[in-house]
Amino acid sequence: MATQKHSPLTYNVSQLLREESGSRRDHAFTESSLPLHEGEALRDIAGDARFTRTESGIYANVTASGIVSTTCMRCLQPALVAVDVTFAEQYRATVDVSTGTNIAADVEEDDDAFLIDDHHFLDIGMALREYAILEMPMRPLCKSSCLGLCVGCGVDLNLESCRCSEAPVDDRFAALQALLDKKPQQ
Ligand SMILES: [Zn+2]
Ligand SMILES: [Zn+2]
Repeated sequence: MATQKHSPLTYNVSQLLREESGSRRDHAFTESSLPLHEGEALRDIAGDARFTRTESGIYANVTASGIVSTTCMRCLQPALVAVDVTFAEQYRATVDVSTGTNIAADVEEDDDAFLIDDHHFLDIGMALREYAILEMPMRPLCKSSCLGLCVGCGVDLNLESCRCSEAPVDDRFAALQALLDKKPQQ
């Protein structure tokens, strides 16, 4: 298993691992920021985690909400997107908590498995990050009523009106137009 830095959302579950299957712990958490991808971060995170002891480790049920600062797909201005995440994942123990025996070899090779590390730390940050990325809208908007940029003149239609229909400013054309307007009827 690759050694990875723990996220701030890491819990020592050594006590729960000593209890019988079905034993539970509930944790309410808040976190200011969790990195997502490409400079984005889930911020102002609040959530609840329920850990349930299973035969092979701990089952984690997590609900969380947060805010992602991203870019509006219509007007290209900053957009704040609310993200709600709910997931349940099995975390497998890699060390027997009572004997200290390494049981990682018993854990079948499975890229999707989350592991409790050899110091009995369970980190929900990685899963929360993955689920938050999945919950991000494909086309984030600064507001649902965003008018976007005009494809013709490029103005931000939230701030200015479209200039596409403005008459070209040309004095010669204006003079000709005035002459035609004044043309006496015959
Ligand atoms: Zn917008
Ligand atoms: Zn326009």
